[in-house]
Amino acid sequence: MRFPPRLLINTPDVELWPADLLRARGNHDARTLAQARWLLRRKRDGRYLAAALDRGLMPLLPRWTAGIDADAALDALDHAPPSGGQGLAPAAPLPLHRIEARLESLGLRAEAYAERTGLALVPEPAWLAFAGLDRYRRPLWLQADAALAWRRLQAAARADDVPLEAISGYRSHDYQLGIFERKRARGLGVDAILAVNAAPGFSEHHAGWALDIGAPGEPPAEERFERTPAFAWLRERAGGHGFAMSYPRDNPHGIVYEPWHWRYTGVPV
Ligand SMILES: [Zn+2]
Repeated sequence: MRFPPRLLINTPDVELWPADLLRARGNHDARTLAQARWLLRRKRDGRYLAAALDRGLMPLLPRWTAGIDADAALDALDHAPPSGGQGLAPAAPLPLHRIEARLESLGLRAEAYAERTGLALVPEPAWLAFAGLDRYRRPLWLQADAALAWRRLQAAARADDVPLEAISGYRSHDYQLGIFERKRARGLGVDAILAVNAAPGFSEHHAGWALDIGAPGEPPAEERFERTPAFAWLRERAGGHGFAMSYPRDNPHGIVYEPWHWRYTGVPV
């Protein structure tokens, strides 16, 4: 069996993951995953829907196509690149209409939120490149250029004896929505959640150009990251690798200071 290219192929409801990058969630999964090239994963809850084997598609959930745009996923599977991702066109954006509808479930209106924060709705890309593993040994996905730049940035820091870890890269709209749903289930109000999380659809993480960076042993995403050697190194050198901090102190979006959140701008600054 050939391994599929290390790409995440993105569709409105389903992601296609290279099966060798996913962990089995039980014996049955393990046997199937070992033979699979791609795994179809529901974005809303991460459930494994079906495995693409050399001999065809094997459903992993009964009625796996219910309530999702399965045609888009199957079409993406048919057109999945055979290898490497080389020669792929730049990732096109997926449509935004679904997230606008889902925002209403939070009592939010996209337009009003955009006006209040100066943030824009961020489409998800049609595919993402593997950028190594994050702190939690999960695959990190970024736009291809950002993935390459992050690996270079991390190597340059390592050469200066400054270990950097990725905490989180690309996140889907549905993933961000899930954060809100879990916090609401714990009794938090939408406004309280919005003070620390961008509304689903409005996070820079959706576009695949941004990632959260941490230092080993430091808690993730806390302001005290600014006192680490990792942050001092980033402030000095990240710009030369095309990365910029998105949310410095007193940024105009009303987003808390995030010294850990960096975006690849493609232009050394
Ligand atoms: Zn972030």
